[in-house]
Amino acid sequence: MSLKMVVNLQGIVTPRSDRPFGELEVREGVAIVVEAGKIKAIAPEEELLKQFPDAERIDGEKCWAFPGFVDPHTHPVFAKTREEEFEMRIEGRSYEEIAAAGGGIRNSVRALRKTSFDELVELTYWRVREFLDYGTTTIEAKSGYGLSLEDEIKSLRVLKHVASLLPITIVPTFLGAHEIPDEYRSRREAYIDLLIKEMIPRVAEEKLAVFCDVFTEKDVFSVKESEQILIAAKDYGLIPKLHADELSPLGGAELAARVRAISADHLVQISDQGILAMKEADVIPVLLPGTTFFLGKPQYAPARKMIAAGLPIALATDYNPGSSFTQNMSLITSIACTQMKVRPAEALWAATLGAARAIARDKELGSLEVGKKADIALHRVPNYLYIPYHYGMNHVCKVLKEGRVVVEK
Ligand SMILES: [Zn+2]
Repeated sequence: MSLKMVVNLQGIVTPRSDRPFGELEVREGVAIVVEAGKIKAIAPEEELLKQFPDAERIDGEKCWAFPGFVDPHTHPVFAKTREEEFEMRIEGRSYEEIAAAGGGIRNSVRALRKTSFDELVELTYWRVREFLDYGTTTIEAKSGYGLSLEDEIKSLRVLKHVASLLPITIVPTFLGAHEIPDEYRSRREAYIDLLIKEMIPRVAEEKLAVFCDVFTEKDVFSVKESEQILIAAKDYGLIPKLHADELSPLGGAELAARVRAISADHLVQISDQGILAMKEADVIPVLLPGTTFFLGKPQYAPARKMIAAGLPIALATDYNPGSSFTQNMSLITSIACTQMKVRPAEALWAATLGAARAIARDKELGSLEVGKKADIALHRVPNYLYIPYHYGMNHVCKVLKEGRVVVEK
């Protein structure tokens, strides 16, 4: 079996599975040996050079090696960007007003339905490629701009196809319950019926998704409707996830605990009971501070309260054409630090191992440890504080996916 070794590193910075939330291990002068796409050894470079003299060398260019970012909440399958809505918001209209007037998600739905599979593959390919360029080696990606059986299946097939073209792991989520589509506005029960009786069974049958997500929000899906949908999804083997307590405090976090969701995401308006319920049920909070920032809203999710309650948080971009248009996880760590007072080490932990937990992949991803996938991002920084500190930048100099160099700058 051919061995590779990442040499000439400053060292590694990584969470560890046996250490608590927010603690990073920093080891200087080590190299990383990779075999069959997995990490075989991490030890002082001279030691490894003696032990594995024939390993193919990969130059670490004096960078720090971090686990590739895991982005556990993205919406990359859409037809058109929505920069005109961005301008409307700047001029004073709210996200909710724009959505009520037929903009927002429903705007994206109309466009996606008119776009072919091949066009969507092309568009999605380049967007996903950009995640890699910023050091993200795994994304969770949702459907949710089709909202018909045919267009939701099309979106999930696009994700599957793009995953076969790019060296990035895409973990797919069915989000047919993203919004009530135009043609069902006056008969929402019929849409929920379609979700439960046709869409979920089909998605499960074709194995197109791991998770089923619901946008639990005022004027979108109520707690009761969400529960109905998520319980049906569980019956078909899909693991629940939720968009919860983002714009209004509906009790989405409590619902996530009740249905044993893997994660509840957004949580800007989470209640104290919601925090406790999530802790009891081991639901991971995925915080999306980029969305609050991009919507220009004053209130961020109470990250410190969750951390104080013993909940390990995860961070994600929420990449989508409406409320958060960035693939840059480093920038998300900056916003988490400055706006939610998350410490830099906590933010990096949340963007790697915490994020891997939020998609149930923490056994194989999210940290640089022996036996895990060799998904490694080399950042040209003097220390890990620099990632959130030198904000809005791309510090990546190389990205390895399962031990293979896939980005080089
Ligand atoms: Zn979302």
